[in-house]
Amino acid sequence: MSKRDYYEVLGVSRDADKKDIKKAYRSLANKYHPDKNPDNPEALDKFKEIAEAYEVLSSEDKRAAYDRFGHEGVSGQGGHGGFGGGAGGFSDIFGDVFGDIFGGGGGGGQSRTRRGSDLRYTLELDLEQAVWGCEEKIRIPTAVECDKCEGSGAKPGTKPTTCPTCNGAGQVRMSQGFFSVQQTCPQCHGQGQIISDPCTSCHGQGRKQEYKTLNVKIPAGVDTGDRIRLTGEGEAGTFGGPPGDLFVQVSVKPHAIFERDGANLYCEVPISFATAALGGEIDVPTLDGRVRLKVTEECQTGKLFRLRNKGVKPVRGGPVGDLICKVVVETPVNLTERQKELFKELADSMGENSEHSPKQKSWFDGVKRFFEDIKK
Ligand SMILES: [Zn+2]
Ligand SMILES: [Zn+2]
Repeated sequence: MSKRDYYEVLGVSRDADKKDIKKAYRSLANKYHPDKNPDNPEALDKFKEIAEAYEVLSSEDKRAAYDRFGHEGVSGQGGHGGFGGGAGGFSDIFGDVFGDIFGGGGGGGQSRTRRGSDLRYTLELDLEQAVWGCEEKIRIPTAVECDKCEGSGAKPGTKPTTCPTCNGAGQVRMSQGFFSVQQTCPQCHGQGQIISDPCTSCHGQGRKQEYKTLNVKIPAGVDTGDRIRLTGEGEAGTFGGPPGDLFVQVSVKPHAIFERDGANLYCEVPISFATAALGGEIDVPTLDGRVRLKVTEECQTGKLFRLRNKGVKPVRGGPVGDLICKVVVETPVNLTERQKELFKELADSMGENSEHSPKQKSWFDGVKRFFEDIKK
């Protein structure tokens, strides 16, 4: 099933801010709301599509992942966040969304399970690793489900009991004059249940702080700022809730030779004075080995050579970039007396003749004009 672009679904531009997105969403959700379109499966599909687009674009993390990797970047592989998967998935969204929009605070107590937080991990890569792709082991501090109590927080063999104050609703109603205000239950803090005999291993939390080691597959062509989402590898949920996701943020280290700009690579290639004047062959480094390059005579500093397809294949597709080499002519150093003599001889033979120095001639002409302009 191919999906429509989320921005297109909501009819907003790619740089729309949160307010615009919310506004577009509200008006569309209102229009296609199943209550207003009974027995209209098309409206229902539309409504689901809108809710899905909103869920992604209203979350900073999900939106960033979507912007970078498209639908791939935000599709939950099973577990939490699956859309269109049966009636259960839909009613979940429905509840979330309409609690927010229509202020329908009903529905009673929240479930005590809660989804774990998303985590972010910055992964530093060499340029080669980013270009070719790699598999990296990362170690992250995270909350994992307690294995003793299997996340329940209650001592093995015991069970949490229903909170007597709110009867498991997690919320209590308090009367204040005319108003009846709903508040989080002070005894169970909204959990609806009380653990009288907490698990000793996690102190009733249901999860523990631990280091987790993961193998992360880095696709070829990633660049600084790209994020890879590992569904379900974030923090464990509380009391058996689903885990959050882990976002691995790529940061590419500076390279000794190459600089990268999108799909293209840049490098400087020093060449000798003699090669520059007479022409010759030079060795140019590329990411997959050396390449010999012909330099024509009278080559000047700053001349660019473009090596097609020696750049980077972008992770999101598109043509392979080029390697662009900039020639830098080097002034010879550590000259012997004999070599200095030869240079003097060469200089004498060229004299003041500006035909050997094309840049110098135009430069001096410019300076001359500049001073003449001042005099006027
Ligand atoms: Zn435990
Ligand atoms: Zn309670």
